[in-house]
Amino acid sequence: MRQCQGCDLYKTATQAVFGEGQRDAPLVLAGEQPGDAEDRQGRPFVGPAGHILDRALEDAGIDRKTVYVTNAVKHFKFEPRGKRRIHKKPSSVEISACRPWLEAELAVIRPAIVVCLGATAVQSLAGRGVRVLRDRGKLLESPFAKGLVVTVHPSALLRLPDHSQFEHEYSLFVRDLQAARKYAARLAA
Ligand code: SF4
Repeated sequence: MRQCQGCDLYKTATQAVFGEGQRDAPLVLAGEQPGDAEDRQGRPFVGPAGHILDRALEDAGIDRKTVYVTNAVKHFKFEPRGKRRIHKKPSSVEISACRPWLEAELAVIRPAIVVCLGATAVQSLAGRGVRVLRDRGKLLESPFAKGLVVTVHPSALLRLPDHSQFEHEYSLFVRDLQAARKYAARLAA
């Protein structure tokens, strides 16, 4: 994967960021793409969104050391703005080009549940018939795991304008992760 030139994103990113976690994880969490911190450090979910994910996993009763976290797209897509690098959503072509890497991770791990964090992971793994806000927290079918759950990406919580909205959306996010934990326990039994 580190040599991959399947789309143009390798040209500007620092490095490809692979998934991280247990090989026999019952839960795989798939986000969108590495962010600025992940691109520099070469590890998934180590930036601000990762900190929210850590807290939410703990509040949902999930030990991060028992799960596997990864992204639908392995290179950081951004737009330079002065000294900053502003996140840019990957295109359908880039998501499709990178899907074999995600599928390969899931084929090795064979999790009970794969959790899609946000629309890009949903597009990659669940297809166009699934909607994040309509279908969040439900147990859905998947060829990549025994079940699939969709929820928001933790970075969406960072963009909320005030604290009360954040707390409300955060509690829904935790509720979706709790649902995923319960489905995984049931399906892994
Ligand atoms: S984003 Fe994915 S498909 Fe594109 S170059 Fe990187 S690893 Fe390859």
